[in-house]
Amino acid sequence: METKSGIETGFEAIQRGMETLKVELAKKDKRIQQLEEVQALSDLFRQVNTYMGSILDFESMLDMLSDVLVGAMGVSACAILVEIGESRQVKEKHTNAASQVRFSPEFFDIVARVMGVTQTSLLVNNLERQSIDGFTKGALIVFSLHRGTNRYGLIAAHYDQSGMITKQREEFFSLIAGQLGVYFENARLYTQMRESAITDGLTQLRNRAYLETLIKENHYRGSGQLGVFLLDIDHFKKVNDVHGHPVGDVVLRAVGRLMFEEVRRLGGRSFRYGGEEMLAVFADQDPVVVSQCAKTLLMRIRSEVFQTEACVRFQVTASFGVCSDTADKPLTEMIQNADLALYEAKHTGRNRVVAFRDPVMPNIKMSEQ
Ligand code: GH3
Ligand code: MG
Ligand code: MG
Repeated sequence: METKSGIETGFEAIQRGMETLKVELAKKDKRIQQLEEVQALSDLFRQVNTYMGSILDFESMLDMLSDVLVGAMGVSACAILVEIGESRQVKEKHTNAASQVRFSPEFFDIVARVMGVTQTSLLVNNLERQSIDGFTKGALIVFSLHRGTNRYGLIAAHYDQSGMITKQREEFFSLIAGQLGVYFENARLYTQMRESAITDGLTQLRNRAYLETLIKENHYRGSGQLGVFLLDIDHFKKVNDVHGHPVGDVVLRAVGRLMFEEVRRLGGRSFRYGGEEMLAVFADQDPVVVSQCAKTLLMRIRSEVFQTEACVRFQVTASFGVCSDTADKPLTEMIQNADLALYEAKHTGRNRVVAFRDPVMPNIKMSEQ
C-alpha cells in the first residue's frame, strides 16, 4: 500500500489551509461590502433627513424622496400614497425604462388588505413565488407611513430582480417610512394649530384676526368684482338679557352655521367680525348674487325657531348692509360702506337688507352724528 510522504501530507494541509483562508477572506470581503453599504445608506438617510426637516412643501418632498429611492437605492419603480383627511394623493416614479411594472389604482388597497391593520410592512423578495397585483417578477417592499395610531399612507418600491431587498435596504426603508410618519404628523399638527388660530371658537367662522391678515396681504385686491355684506343680529342684547348668555351663544352659533352654508354655496368666505356681527366676502361675484345671498340668509335666520330649557320659543331677525365694487378698491373701504348700509338698515326698521349707495349714505351718516 502506498503511503503519503511527509511532504505530500504537509502540502495537502497547506492547501486546505489556503482554502479556509480564501473562504474567510471572501466572508470578510462580503462583510466589508455590507459595512460600506450600511455606511452609504446611513449617510444618505442623514442627508434625506436634513432635507426633509427643511421643507414644508409637500410636493417637493415627495419629488426628493422618489429621486432618492430611484437614484440611490436602485429601485426600478416607486410610489408613495398619502392620505390626509379626505385627500388621497399618489406619487409614482419609474427609472428603469425596461421596467414594465405599473402601480394600478387599486394597488394600495390590495396591499393594505394584505397587510391588515396590524402589519406595518410587507416584503416580498421573490415575486415569481408570490405575486402581488400584477407584480410577478423581482422584489417588492411596502411600508406604512404612520405615527402612533395615525396612518398617513404607504410607500412602495419595486426592484426588477428578486433578492434585491437586503437587510440594510429594508432597514433604510423602515427609517425613511418612520421619518415620513413624523413629517406628516408635524404637518397635521401644524394645520390643526393654524386652523384653531384663525377660527372663532364659538361660531367656527374665520376670526377677525384672520380677516386682518388677509387685508394686510391684499388678498382680495385685484381685478374683477368684490362683494361684501355685514350682518348684525337685531336686539341681540335683549336675547341675552331675557334668556341668558348661554342661550345667546346658541343663537350666535346657529346664525354662524346658516351664514357659513349660504355664503360657501356661492363661493364666499364668512368671518365673525365682532360680537354679533358677521362679514361675508365674495371675490368675483355678481353684485346681484351677493345681495340675493344676504336676502336668502335673512329669510333662513327669520325662520329659525329657538327654544330655551324652560321651553320658551323665540325667533330672531338680523339687519344687513351690502356693498359691491371693483376689486381695485381696498376691502376696508368696502366694509366701511357696508357698515353705512347696515346703519341705514338699523335706522329704517331693522330686519332687512340695504345696499350701499354712493354718495347718499355718507350724508345720512353725517347727519346722524
Ligand atoms: P341692534 O339691533 O341695534 O344691533 O341691538 P343689539 O342689542 O343687537 O346691539 P348691541 O350692540 O347693543 O348688543 C350686542 C350684544 O351682543 C351685547 C353683547 O353682550 C352681545 N354679545 C357679544 N358677543 C357675544 C357672545 O359671544 N355671546 C353672547 N351670548 N352675547 C354676545
Ligand atoms: Mg352689533
Ligand atoms: Mg345687534
